[in-house]
Amino acid sequence: MGQREQKSSRVYRVEQTTLFHKSSTKTRFYGGREMIKRCSFCTLWLPTVVISIFTVVSFLVIFILLNHSLDEMIQAHKHSNSLTKKIEKMVSSTLNATFLGNEERFLEVALISNEIHDAIASIEQSNTYNTASLLESYRQLYKNLISAVSYSKENRLEDAQKALEEVKAYTLTLEEQMNKLDAHFLQNEKEHEKTLFLVMFVSGTLLLFTALFNGFYLIPQRVIRPLEESSQKLQRSEEKYRIVANWTHDWEYWVGKGKEIIFMTPSVQRITGYTSGEFAKNPSLLTSIIHPDDKALWEQHVQEAHLPNRPEEDAQGVEFRVIAKDGRIVNIDHICRPVYSTNKEFLGVRVANRDITLKTGILNELKEKNTLLDTLATTDALSGLYNRRYFNEAFEREIAHAKRMRTTLSIIMCDIDYFKRYNDTYGHQMGDSVIQKVSNVLKTTFGRGVDVVARYGGEEFVVLAPSTPPEEITKLTEKTREGIMALNIEHANSQTAPFVTMSFGVANCTPDVALTADKLLKAADDALYESKERGRNCITFVVC
Ligand code: GH3
Ligand code: MG
Ligand code: MG
Repeated sequence: MGQREQKSSRVYRVEQTTLFHKSSTKTRFYGGREMIKRCSFCTLWLPTVVISIFTVVSFLVIFILLNHSLDEMIQAHKHSNSLTKKIEKMVSSTLNATFLGNEERFLEVALISNEIHDAIASIEQSNTYNTASLLESYRQLYKNLISAVSYSKENRLEDAQKALEEVKAYTLTLEEQMNKLDAHFLQNEKEHEKTLFLVMFVSGTLLLFTALFNGFYLIPQRVIRPLEESSQKLQRSEEKYRIVANWTHDWEYWVGKGKEIIFMTPSVQRITGYTSGEFAKNPSLLTSIIHPDDKALWEQHVQEAHLPNRPEEDAQGVEFRVIAKDGRIVNIDHICRPVYSTNKEFLGVRVANRDITLKTGILNELKEKNTLLDTLATTDALSGLYNRRYFNEAFEREIAHAKRMRTTLSIIMCDIDYFKRYNDTYGHQMGDSVIQKVSNVLKTTFGRGVDVVARYGGEEFVVLAPSTPPEEITKLTEKTREGIMALNIEHANSQTAPFVTMSFGVANCTPDVALTADKLLKAADDALYESKERGRNCITFVVC
């Protein structure tokens, strides 16, 4: 079929309130954050948190205990060293005082004795370490030293000697007790270290178990699997929409708020020759390919329909033409409506463009054929005048109009004279030619738009002339009669003239309510009969 430009431009409103059905399928996708929320705090995070707190607290407690124990040991050593030194000094002073009888030494011993007494008292008060036996040894040692001093003063040297022996013995005992104390501290430290190790081991094992449990069970179960499922759902959904979009036969697209093309179906290439990519790169391409004659229509539509804040159901349509890349003219049926997000944010305009070139072509062809059919149904093929059917309709219409408007209406019946003889003489084809020529004269004379000239049947014609004064009708009829004679068609067998002539019967009236089409037609027919009777090639005029 040759390329024909089919014009079908129009703007229209789409009646349906719901042009697109809202999807009933709800697909839910979970993002990472939502996924983490979905993983129960109690199952996934609580064990880890509890174990971590337990480990930190245990470390702190053990650290404090160890520190305390170390402090105690240092203090004990400090006190014991200071006491030991003082005792040693007192022993040597006592010995000097005892055996040398040095009075100054006794004074020194008394001073040191006071110091030792105070030191023991301070150890007792501070109670930094529980060493009752050690203190007891100090006390005994101190007692013996005091005894040794008093024996010396009394010059009981042997007793003083004995007391000093006792002091020596207690010094050794003290050393042993100090060693025992050190061993006790070391033992304590080892126990603390053991506890620390145990705590570390238990918390490490628990942490490892939690990590393994989370890593191999909870995270795959609660995070990875749902994420995979979600991703699969997303993939399936994308696939679904991709197939829906790619297989759309119509040229569909979505223009964003900023007039940018968000999405366009590949079918655009089939319809316009341009790819969706070309439209995305150049948003004004669409306007540029619209047929120049339809541009104003398109601009008007865009101004009215491509606006935000219009109701979502308000779909609007326009038909226009575009010039495809290869120069083809494509008729487009464009329907669009605004689209909004679920929280009512304006997202642009969604458009469906349908190629209706073929449909428009068929419609135009049908229109042409209908017009032809109408013409055929109302026209006489030989003469090109209206046929009797059309005349009858027009006659009823004009009668009603004339009655309503109280106007005049004339009807002229005409008949070619001795036409049977003409046919017999010159043949049927020549007869047809006469009918055509006579028709042309009638058409030319009664050429006003309101006049109806019809072939009534055979070689009979009828003219319907509304709103024409009688004198005018007589003049036009006479002009027709003369026009036919002027054709000067030879008719050797006519008894009226040597050429073709015609007889006329004119009926004129201002129709009243009682007048009918049949009555007026009969009057004209009677007038024609009278013309025939009067010798033909004449006009008989009657007023009803
Ligand atoms: P009158 O003057 O009394 O009208 O005589 P007439 O011979 O014209 O009238 P009649 O009714 O006797 O004959 C009409 C003829 O017209 C008969 C027919 O052969 C001829 N005729 C009717 N229709 C056509 C047509 O379409 N073509 C041709 N060539 N002749 C036709
Ligand atoms: Mg005749
Ligand atoms: Mg006749």
